[in-house]
Amino acid sequence: MLQFSGLTLPLSSSGEDALAAALKKARLRPAQLAGWGVTRLSVDARHGRPKLVWGIGVTLAPGLREEDFSAPGVQVKREMPLTITPGPKRASGRPVVCGLGPAGLFAALLLARHGAKPLVLERGPSIERRAAAVDAFFAGGPLDENANIQFGEGGAGTFSDGKLTTRIGDPLCDYVRRTLLEHGAPEEIVWQAKPHIGTDRLREVILSLRREIERLGGAVRFDTRLIGLIRREGRLAGVETDAGPIETDTLVLAIGHSARDTFEMLRSAGLTLEAKPFSVGFRAEHLQSEIDRALYHEAAGHPALPPGEYQLSAHPGGRGVYTFCMCPGGRVVAAASEAGGVCTNGMSYHARDGANANAAVVAEVKPEEFGGDPMRAVAFQRELERAAFALREDYTAPAQDLESFLAGRPGLRLGRVAPTYPRGVAAADLGALFPEKLTAARRQGLRAFGRKLPGYCAPDTLLTGPETRTSSPVRIPRGADCQSAQLPGLYPCGEGAGYAGGIVSAAVDGLRAARSILETVRYE
Ligand SMILES: Cc1cc2nc3c(=O)[nH]c(=O)nc-3n(C[C@H](O)[C@H](O)[C@H](O)COP(=O)(O)OP(=O)(O)OC[C@H]3O[C@@H](n4cnc5c(N)ncnc54)[C@H](O)[C@@H]3O)c2cc1C
Repeated sequence: MLQFSGLTLPLSSSGEDALAAALKKARLRPAQLAGWGVTRLSVDARHGRPKLVWGIGVTLAPGLREEDFSAPGVQVKREMPLTITPGPKRASGRPVVCGLGPAGLFAALLLARHGAKPLVLERGPSIERRAAAVDAFFAGGPLDENANIQFGEGGAGTFSDGKLTTRIGDPLCDYVRRTLLEHGAPEEIVWQAKPHIGTDRLREVILSLRREIERLGGAVRFDTRLIGLIRREGRLAGVETDAGPIETDTLVLAIGHSARDTFEMLRSAGLTLEAKPFSVGFRAEHLQSEIDRALYHEAAGHPALPPGEYQLSAHPGGRGVYTFCMCPGGRVVAAASEAGGVCTNGMSYHARDGANANAAVVAEVKPEEFGGDPMRAVAFQRELERAAFALREDYTAPAQDLESFLAGRPGLRLGRVAPTYPRGVAAADLGALFPEKLTAARRQGLRAFGRKLPGYCAPDTLLTGPETRTSSPVRIPRGADCQSAQLPGLYPCGEGAGYAGGIVSAAVDGLRAARSILETVRYE
């Protein structure tokens, strides 16, 4: 693909105008293209009347070479293939994959595509039953601890914005993107610099991916939880599940960051768990139209512009405070997976057409604050969730307007921003819920964000929390071959093992684990 950036055109310009400008730059004719799309669109409001700044991507007709059309401001982007050198010896049985989030899904898919017929264990239900359980919980029903926003087919990102942005820069990202397209992701993700799928489209893609695994001889056992590891002669010999034992010498462990009981089990099985930094905070909701105004100025409301997105960070007193997982036109979700705990997160539909924008505002917590003990960090997350639940003994989320939070007084004066958290919100002192050092850092961080993005600190900005599951506080050590040195045959991967943060990076890590297995043994 050839990528053209910084094509500055009047507000009245269209994507076709931007394409024409790109073609002119590289001396290309429309007939020489195989396809094209908008990679990004922003507004330059620095000098007088705002202008649109377009990015355009084009693919060339067969027989043409990208390097023959190089020009200033044009980048060549090549898709990297995934190559595997099959392992020297034959596998002795089928591999087991635990967890059907992005890491487990992509590990199982790659294994299945190479004849391994993986057996996948997922503690939660299939996507249809999971969606019904989530809907029932949002509507006021009880929390199902195995079927919720964290657990069930598709993993944690299923009810999400489906953002596919990642900074890992791994060539395997191309394989992930290509596979998502093959399974029905919207075509624009080929082009976009910040692609997103939306929870509605993502669910269909996940279902289609699972069907390919099954078609290739893989099997998925839903409602089946990993509860133990079987060790023989110093290596993995099988797994214990709540439906009985399974013999295997290969386990891809892709359990996500919320499998706290499984972390406990791993520790009791003698595995070392390391502490890693993580973050906690709350969601901030604004009117999307206000965010658009802050980012696009007079151009706000222009039909070509996507709902505005922001990413803000500050470092008050050496502690990172940042916005996370922004969901334009989205809603705040009830993301608990343990009964008696409240926890928020965010999601959007593909159209991103809700009235509110939301993003987490989180402060970093370092391992040394818990004496390097990851299970103390997990206990801290749980305490925050329980303290929030205890305020009303239900799943209502504590909320506060930003003005009250900054002033350090409890209060919730609702203004233009209507809460979207499905179980309802109640006035609380969000600051008092957290240790003072984290609250103070977030206050300073929010003030800094207000200086960077006009209107961010509008008094009726709505804060809802706590947000405790931004990332895993745990890392499960592994070698360069993705295998545990303490238990050969075990491949910890994805976000729960501490090697990913987000849908694409988790999927890539699942691919890494599967590739390592396929380069050790052959299944075909
Ligand atoms: C609401 C929400 C919105 C998000 N939005 C985005 C976004 O827009 N973009 C983005 O990049 N990231 C987003 N994320 C983060 C992203 O979802 C995660 O980074 C990603 O899902 C991690 O993938 P994973 O496969 O490592 O783990 P997970 O997705 O957590 O999957 C782990 C799976 O393992 C299963 N499991 C756990 N323990 C066991 C056990 N003992 N036995 C059997 N099965 C088990 C779980 O049920 C789960 O299905 C969001 C997360 C949430 C919660």
